[in-house]
Amino acid sequence: AEVIKMDVSQPQSLKKALSVPNKLLMGPGPVNIPLRVHNAMMKPMLGHLHPEFTEIMDEVKEGLRYIFQTKANVVCCVSGTGHAGMEATMCNLIEPNDVILIAQNGIWGERAADMAHRHDGDVRVIEKPAGDVFSLHDLDSALSQHKPAILFMVQGESSTGALQPLEGVGSLCRKHGTLLAVDTVASLGGVPFYMDAWEIDVVYTGSQKVISAPPSMAPMAFNDRAMAKVHARKTPIRSFYTDITWLANYWGCDGLPRKYHHTGPVSSVYALREALSMMCEEGLESLWSRHRSCAQKLYDGLADLGLQLFVDDPAKRTPTVTTICVPNGVDWTKVTKYFMSKYRVEISGGLGPSAGKVWRVGLMGYNCTPENVDKVLSIMKEALANVSKLKS
Ligand code: PMP
Repeated sequence: AEVIKMDVSQPQSLKKALSVPNKLLMGPGPVNIPLRVHNAMMKPMLGHLHPEFTEIMDEVKEGLRYIFQTKANVVCCVSGTGHAGMEATMCNLIEPNDVILIAQNGIWGERAADMAHRHDGDVRVIEKPAGDVFSLHDLDSALSQHKPAILFMVQGESSTGALQPLEGVGSLCRKHGTLLAVDTVASLGGVPFYMDAWEIDVVYTGSQKVISAPPSMAPMAFNDRAMAKVHARKTPIRSFYTDITWLANYWGCDGLPRKYHHTGPVSSVYALREALSMMCEEGLESLWSRHRSCAQKLYDGLADLGLQLFVDDPAKRTPTVTTICVPNGVDWTKVTKYFMSKYRVEISGGLGPSAGKVWRVGLMGYNCTPENVDKVLSIMKEALANVSKLKS
């Protein structure tokens, strides 16, 4: 047989040892992960349907029920990041021409609307300025006007730092015959969330934020109302990979024997299991108060530096992501570069409507400590003094 000459040779870059610097990740995610979670990933590989592995998946499910505060049957993960959870929400809930109302006050509402269009939803948008949130009155009138099948909201808008109150929204949705889907990627575990008590029908989050596991898993839950809509579909779910009926089977939620859907990311599931175990050990009340008190310490320290927050009303701020206004005349990139080059600390710039206007500091899970707040504040003080010196 003819030997084909290889045109592509082994890359030089892969002959070097893998090199990864140690950085403190104080942006909006991913966050640093505890050693216990790192170590979990070194456990032996198992088959993705082995009983020892499906038992670990069951433990993950129990942990997720605790952090979502739900007794829903269908609690599972999409193997992917937060966007995969968003995509799964859209593709399972929307049938062509279903009216979906998106409460948009930042980039995540924009992304959700983009995805909803791709699934041929009849997309309606209500908007609030960046940094603001929706009142029950706003939502009630929009629900009356649009009569949507689905309302989509974001609890922690990480592009603006806003925290959407959710209490009461679920019962409004039930009054209007609407399903309520909530993105909690940037907030879950850092602020109160009660899926069942707040009558939320679909929720998803991401593993790399407060949960403090590596990016790779999008935990989600669908309650019986949401599953009833899925089961009543006249058209097939347009994605095999994010089909909630398949995922529910693989995660052992439908009472049927597990079938091969996809190869679960085994080591990532170990990591998630350990991260959830740590959250359960600490307890949600303690997690919530740790996030609140560290955020308050950050607000106070920033005020002492003469800096203003992008979200004026403290009640409308998510403690997990703080948006800080860039003062006039300061080049924000010089400050983020100062953090990184001198201290290997990440803080990030704005995103979407806040791009160029703010810095974003994350206080999430493992990284949410008073020591890290002090570190960010002292570097910020030094950076501002240096950057101003450079200017003059
Ligand atoms: N929703 C929100 C509120 C987020 O903050 C993020 C990530 N920053 C996402 C969705 C998307 O998550 P991922 O980057 O993990 O896909």
